[in-house]
Formats: sequence, C-alpha cells, structure tokens
Amino acid sequence: MSDSIRLYNTLTRKKEIFVPVKKGHVGIYSCGPTVYSYQHIGNLRTFVYNDLLKRLFLYNGYKVKHIINVTDVGHLTSDADIGEDKVERAASREGKTAKEISNYYFNIFRQDLKKLNVIEPDVWPRATEHINEMISLIKILEKKGYTYKTSDGIYFDTSKLKDYGKLAGLKKEGLKAGKRVAIGEKKHNTDFALWKFSEKPGVRQQEWNSPWGVGFPGWHIECSVMSSKYLGKQIDVHTGGQEHIPVHHTNEIAQSEAGYGKKPWVKYWMHFAWLLFEGEKISKSRGGAYLLSDLEEEGYNPMSLRYLYLTAHYKKPLNFSFDMLDYAQNAYKRLKNILAEIKKAHDKKNRKNMERAKKQFLEIINDDLNSSKALAYLWDILRDNSLNNSEKYELAIDFDKFFGLELDKEEKIEVPANVKKMADDREEARKNKDWKKADEIRDKINKLGFVLEDTERGVKVKKR
Ligand code: AMP
Ligand code: ZN
Repeated sequence: MSDSIRLYNTLTRKKEIFVPVKKGHVGIYSCGPTVYSYQHIGNLRTFVYNDLLKRLFLYNGYKVKHIINVTDVGHLTSDADIGEDKVERAASREGKTAKEISNYYFNIFRQDLKKLNVIEPDVWPRATEHINEMISLIKILEKKGYTYKTSDGIYFDTSKLKDYGKLAGLKKEGLKAGKRVAIGEKKHNTDFALWKFSEKPGVRQQEWNSPWGVGFPGWHIECSVMSSKYLGKQIDVHTGGQEHIPVHHTNEIAQSEAGYGKKPWVKYWMHFAWLLFEGEKISKSRGGAYLLSDLEEEGYNPMSLRYLYLTAHYKKPLNFSFDMLDYAQNAYKRLKNILAEIKKAHDKKNRKNMERAKKQFLEIINDDLNSSKALAYLWDILRDNSLNNSEKYELAIDFDKFFGLELDKEEKIEVPANVKKMADDREEARKNKDWKKADEIRDKINKLGFVLEDTERGVKVKKR
C-alpha cells in the first residue's frame, strides 16, 4: 500500500496527500447523470475520469466503494430552482412515463460505460428510491433552524452558515438579496429548495406526500442523502464536472454539514474539466454533443475515445475533433499491434528493471492522476532498448490495470449494425441491377474500414 497519492482538492485549492477516513479503504461518490436524455461524449469524459480515479486507488491496493447516483427527479431546467423538471418534461415530450424515460436513458448510459470499459459502481442509487431519507434530512435541518417556507417550497437559509460557499470561494456579499436578482420569495439569492410543492397535486407524474405538502425533492438533497447513506457521515472523495462547484456541490456541503454535523463532510473534492468542441463546452445547446453510438457508426472503436480522453490531464480542457479522434484511434491501433507482436516473446525477465519501471509509473499516476504523462511513459517503455519484449509486455499489461484500455484483449472485430445494413442495401441494389447505387454503397463501406467479399454463402463483410 502506497501512501503517496496526491490529489488536487478543490476545497483547499491545493494538491494534498490523500489520507482516507478508514485505513486501506476509500469511498468515492460521483454525481451521475440526469436521465432525461442521452449522455454525450462530454458527459462520458467525466465518467471515464471517475473510472481512472477508482483504478488509481485499486492500483495502489485500496478497497474501493464507488457510488454513482441516478438523478430521475428534481433536476430543474434552471439552477435557480425554477423551470421544469427535466425528466417530467422529457416524459410529456415523448409521451412516456417518467419511469420509462429514466430507465431507457439510464440503460443506454450504462451500456456506453461498459463499452468504454468503465468498472461499474457498487451502487447506482436513484433519487426516486430515497425520498424518505431525503424527507428525514430536511426534518433535521428544519429542527436545527436552517429552513423556511415559501409558497412554492421549503428552502435552505444559506445566511445561517458562516462558511457557505467555501468550495467556490463565494463572497458573503453575494448572498444578500440584490435588487437586480429575481429571487421571488427567497430571502437570499443563494438560498435553495430542499422540497418543492407540486403546483397542482395530481398533475406531475412523480410526487410524494411530505410533512410540508405534496411535492418533490430539490436536486441537491439527493446527493447529500445518497452519498452518506452508502459511504457514511464523512466521505473520502466526491467528484463531478466543474460546473457543479458554485451551486450543486456548494449546496450539498451546506445541507450535509448543517444536517450531519461533520466537518468537512467530504475530505477531497475533485472536479473534472470539460470536453470542448470548437473551443466551447460540449453541450446539447452549443454543439458537438456526439453520442458514443454516433462515433461507432462512423467506424470508431469506443476504446479510441477512451484513449483520447486519457491523453489530457483531468484538470485540463480537452478539445474534441474528428482529427484528434483519428489520431487517438491510430495510436491505439499501433499500441495494440505492438503488444500483439511482443506478446509472443519468451525472454528472461529482469525483475529489478521491471520494479524500477513500475515504481516510476506509480509516481506518475499518484501525482494527481496524471493519465497523459502515464500514457507517454508507456510509449517510452515500449521504445526503451534496455528492456526486452517480455518485460515490456508484462509492464504494459500491468499499467493497463490503471488505463483500462483492454490492452491484453485480442481484437474482436464486430461489424457495426449500420455497415451490415449498408451491405444488405447493396445486395438489394444489385438485385435491382442498380449498379451505380451498389458501387456507391460499396465505396462508403470501404471508407468505414470494411470490405465486401463474395463467398459461397453470399457476400461477407470483413474488416480491412
Ligand atoms: P448531466 O446529466 O447534465 O447532469 O451531466 C452528467 C455529468 O457530465 C456531470 O457531472 C457534468 O458535469 C458532466 N458534463 C457535462 N458536460 C460536460 C462536458 N462537456 N465535458 C465534461 N463533462 C461534462
Ligand atoms: Zn450530485
């Protein structure tokens, strides 16, 4: 067990040596998806980094308990506690039940993570399954005098906490209800909803009785409740995208520290930088919001995307472009080819050389999860003339416990569904003697990296 992991803690704004709450164990809570739509490649970057963090601890010999929550209620279209519930809105738009919506998008997300070789969390808690626990925490906050009621809900009074906003370094002056800020009946603009009343009970699909009235929980309360339910009153690491710092995580801290009375409630806060497209955060509204399935349809292997994510440190924004993805796919293919080649070697291994390399690798990843430097180090090892092929292979497979790039897996070539469909369409065109169309489709198939071969049992699609 190494005790030398150093992580940048958003709370203290410095790199710190990681000391767990319980020796040898680490609990990680990661804010998960709001399951009202598909998760794009920007969202997926965050979850691959969660996975790398977990693998870092596993590589260091820790027992890891990892929780990713599923937000299936209470996340409104605006961070200011107004607007529509995202899941409810998607349900009425698609003419489905809220449950159908959340199950559908959650399952796709889960499959995407699997394709990206992300280790499943120990628990996937859903907000709708923890309503009673949320009501209990709100009752505690009420008893301690942190709440007040307005006509639309129960709110947390942020002025009651001296250190409110410490995660984001928010200034106290900002808390006063400014004249220019529309805050409705809230006392301070940073106050936030713990419980929202249904406007007209019986209209929403997801609503519950509570001591304050029929309604649904605010977004932040779910993460306080579910993280502490599964990981205890003090948590080792809490992660999420960087936009969560000023509102969502700030409010999680406020209600948890006020309610549970443990400070700090979370020891290490880690925030991952965004995936960008043409210089801007990838999002549905701004563009670049490709899905993993879109990339697969273009002939990319999900592992190429994982490789691309790994080329940047988690605190640095990463620009996505198809050129970058091509570069990553080529590098990944080259890596796999080299390993397939050197796998066959039977050289005598020098343990001392290997221990030295492993130690250096550990130092790199333990320095704030430096995946880009670690990847460069793997390439250095493969080029290192003082190591023989058997040593190189063993080291690469060992490092892959951290990378999760499936470096030991034989390439399994699966023909994507769209390519299969194109091959069928080409057959149809040939039957109809539409040679021009048939040739066009064949060219498209070739471009995607596949070839068509005539066999006795008909046309087969193969990887080029
Ligand atoms: P959401 O489903 O919108 O709550 O997002 C799920 C996670 O994806 C959150 O932790 C976000 O911070 C993260 N996320 C959203 N957009 C991006 C992006 N462009 N790059 C990286 N992470 C993102
Ligand atoms: Zn959260």
